[in-house]
Amino acid sequence: MLKRLEIVGFKSFAKKTVLDFSSATTAIVGPNGSGKSNVAEAFRFALGEQSMKSMRGKRSEDLIFGGSHSVPRANRASVAIVFDNSEQAGRRPFQLDFDEVAIERVVLRDGSSEYSINGSRVRLRDIEELLAGANVGETSHQIISQGEADRILIASARERRAMLEDALGLAIYEFKKQEAQRKLEKTETNIAQVESLRRELAPHLRFLERQVEKLERVDTLRSELSTVAQTYFAIEEAYLAAEKRAVHEAAEIAAARLAQASAELSAIEENATTDAEGARRLAQVRAAEAEVEKAALARSALARELGRVEGALNAAKQRSAHEAREPYAKVSREDLIALAEEARRQSAPSTEPGALRAALDALSTSVRAFVDRFISRDDDLMADEEQAVYALENERVALGEKEKRLIDEHDRARSTLTRARETLAAHDETGKEMRRRLLERAEAKAHEEAQVERVQARTRELAQIEETLELEKRDTVALAGRAVLSYAPVATPPEEARSVQAERRRALERLRIRLEEAGGTGEDVRAEFKEASERESFLARELGDLAKSADGLRSLTRDLDAELAKHFADGLARVNASFGEFFATLFGGGHAQLALEEPESNEEGTDAVLLGEAFVHPGIEIEVALPKKKVRSLVQLSGGERALTSIALIFAMSQVNPPPFLILDETDAALDEANARRYGDMIESLAKKSQLIVITHNRETMRRAGILYGVTMGGDGVSKLLSVKFEDAIAVAK
Ligand code: ATP
Repeated sequence: MLKRLEIVGFKSFAKKTVLDFSSATTAIVGPNGSGKSNVAEAFRFALGEQSMKSMRGKRSEDLIFGGSHSVPRANRASVAIVFDNSEQAGRRPFQLDFDEVAIERVVLRDGSSEYSINGSRVRLRDIEELLAGANVGETSHQIISQGEADRILIASARERRAMLEDALGLAIYEFKKQEAQRKLEKTETNIAQVESLRRELAPHLRFLERQVEKLERVDTLRSELSTVAQTYFAIEEAYLAAEKRAVHEAAEIAAARLAQASAELSAIEENATTDAEGARRLAQVRAAEAEVEKAALARSALARELGRVEGALNAAKQRSAHEAREPYAKVSREDLIALAEEARRQSAPSTEPGALRAALDALSTSVRAFVDRFISRDDDLMADEEQAVYALENERVALGEKEKRLIDEHDRARSTLTRARETLAAHDETGKEMRRRLLERAEAKAHEEAQVERVQARTRELAQIEETLELEKRDTVALAGRAVLSYAPVATPPEEARSVQAERRRALERLRIRLEEAGGTGEDVRAEFKEASERESFLARELGDLAKSADGLRSLTRDLDAELAKHFADGLARVNASFGEFFATLFGGGHAQLALEEPESNEEGTDAVLLGEAFVHPGIEIEVALPKKKVRSLVQLSGGERALTSIALIFAMSQVNPPPFLILDETDAALDEANARRYGDMIESLAKKSQLIVITHNRETMRRAGILYGVTMGGDGVSKLLSVKFEDAIAVAK
């Protein structure tokens, strides 16, 4: 699957160097320090290695060709690995729709790295995901660096487990788990944010809710007002209509009766005169009657006027009640003391009249100035309504006085008439009987006149009641809207005392006052409340969704854990089978296996141990039994034995889940001739499953390679690559 490696400016490879890997096994040979290991590191680098240490550097700059006395330094290092991605057995190794996949990494002197896939810039994450998908996991298990073969022996049990998981191709589960974890953390952050937004919103919402409740109470009050007002208005109207009808009838009856009484009286009076003296006296009666009539007319005209003024006054008073003025002025103690002091100063103790006069004037001016200070301009300028009340009151007083005068005149005219009638009656010779009848009729007529006056007074009263009703309607409409006037009229007033209606009127007034105090329809508050509660339910939904997705992510993590555990157990068994076999082959006997660490806190022996929130999986121990030796512990092994054990394990691991390629940097360094041959045999069988790149000084190993590259370094400090034949390889390697 590996096609080639292109190195430019990386470490000792100053010039562009291309390694072609068209064979199953490629060997790289060359003298010490020529730059062979740099090739392995070029692989690490391009695969996204972040640890500088594993590339033998301190800073990123150390990866860029540093220059020599004859060749200038480079400004960037780039390494591209080109993979063959054409379909094999119906699928492409990488999930990309290209026949070739080139992943490239560039590092600049400022330390920044750039990654690309087939020339398009990508993130490191994208590279990692792409590689994991093709079973090119972490570089550690497929690039075995020089002297690093026994890394897996040195590693802790936990680290060993991680290495094994990676070799088994389970890294993708780790990826997915981390991804789920990241999403979960993000979701939890979002949950916290939404919760805090909700907490922030809550008091405002509660406030608005209370406002709206208040408004609803106002609504209730308003509809209560409507109900009470409608009943009151309907009854009042029915009452007025009935009363008007009654008063109208009464007026007609009274007018008829008065006419009849007048006619009867006139007839008697006409009969009573037969002579000139009698005619003169009758004329006097008629004149007196005309006077009475005139006075009565004047009185009723005045009464009408008075009615009008009183109605207007009532209305004006109601209107001006809203503009009540403060009747008192506040005067401080200091001001009063100052005034007294001023008065004392100005009342000079002199009896001379000129001086007294001057003192009095000065005193008067001071007092006037003092008063002016406390009577504001506004006090002088009465409010319009107040002025209207004032004018109407004056008018009413004037009309009242005029009425008194008219009543006097009326009374005087009446007594003149009575006297004229008595004179007329006294003249008549029919005497007593005639007088009795005349006076009786006159009395009857006066009675009817009084009746007419009562009816007129009642008419005025009704007009005032009507006017008050109109005012009440207007005030109620202002508070409850015009709709309040849409009610069914009542045909006849209910049979109840008038005080019942008066009680309704007081209730109406109380409701009006309460409504006025409550004020406003609060449409803005309602709109704001609606908006805030919509936001609240949005947040609640959001929270629900987030909680659901957090649950989903948690269960995904659990599922991934379970799957990982299953695959791990399975993979472990398979690695153990090959490990034992390779070990026995290399050592000519004995056996070895990987075993799960004894869980300390989990006696039931299940795979995972719950530590706090996270499951911690037990680490991996290596158990060895050398042939014919009682050695059991790793630390007791010799250097060569360690190398053999490592090789057995590395090969076993790569057999189970063969990586696409395996780079072995002098893994065979510590082997003696016999072991080198066995190693070479194993290389051959390994190469059937993974492409191998071996950096070696070992003849046996070189023999198994299809392609041999020699790396040399001249006096210019630049590594050079050349293809060599096996026969020449040994010479080049020296
Ligand atoms: P051995 O067989 O002894 O392991 P090797 O062939 O693996 O040797 P390397 O360790 O790969 O050799 O090469 C190291 C060489 O690379 C040294 O000569 C070192 O000076 C050179 N080198 C390392 N980094 C740079 C760099 N940034 N610029 C130039 N040369 C570098």
